[in-house]
Amino acid sequence: MKVLVPVKRVIDYNVKVRVKADQTGVDLANVKMAMNPFCEIAVEEAVRQKEKGTATEVVAVSIGPVQAQETLRTALAMGADRAILIQTDQDLEPLAVAKVLAAIVAEEAPDVVIMGKQAIDGDNNATGQMLSALLGWPQAAFASELVLAAGSAKVTREIDGGLQTVEVALPAVITADLRLNEPRYASLPNIMKAKKKPLDVKELSALGVDTVPRLKVLKVAEPPKRTGGVKVGSAAEIVSNLKSNGVI
Ligand code: AMP
Repeated sequence: MKVLVPVKRVIDYNVKVRVKADQTGVDLANVKMAMNPFCEIAVEEAVRQKEKGTATEVVAVSIGPVQAQETLRTALAMGADRAILIQTDQDLEPLAVAKVLAAIVAEEAPDVVIMGKQAIDGDNNATGQMLSALLGWPQAAFASELVLAAGSAKVTREIDGGLQTVEVALPAVITADLRLNEPRYASLPNIMKAKKKPLDVKELSALGVDTVPRLKVLKVAEPPKRTGGVKVGSAAEIVSNLKSNGVI
């Protein structure tokens, strides 16, 4: 069973994001970048499936700038077999990413796509769902447990108030939630080995996919600054403060 894992290079989750002065976006200059945490979980899951013997090949794919090769090398060091970079300096929106991924799926013919539920930069939570629609494949989003079998996948999903278990026919798109697993750290020997694994680079323009933006970002702003707290003497005073501030 072949697994395709799309991974995105994003601002490292430890970095405090700064909004550009002209409010057109966030400042990426000299900012530490890393693999999107939900994509790490997806890679880990694919590698575990390979270690269990259910998957035979794990292919990581990223759409992004030349530096996204580092992200793909991380996926290779975690245990992916090979990687594909679709190189572009455009910041693509989810529909465009899904179209590019659909083109890769057509070339690679994986049995399952395991990807992050969300990229922590745009917080779109849309690409997996759009990809499944474009491919006409079943989707199981927000997986917290995955059992792959020949021809089907049983996926436990975290939903409000409990867990839902669904079975989808393969090929399918599965998106990883936080509790699916804890990704491993790549060991030094595996980082060294990853340098020799195949990494194909293709230009986005060579795919002939329509990536024209459908969305226009009007403004990006910092969240309002937190104002200082006040000390109160009693529970009654807390209640009265909440009431006077319109909280309750
Ligand atoms: P989003 O819908 O943007 O929140 O992203 C959800 C998932 O789609 C991510 O966790 C990735 O698995 C995948 N994805 C989004 N953008 C890219 C990209 N540029 N390259 C590869 N995968 C991506």
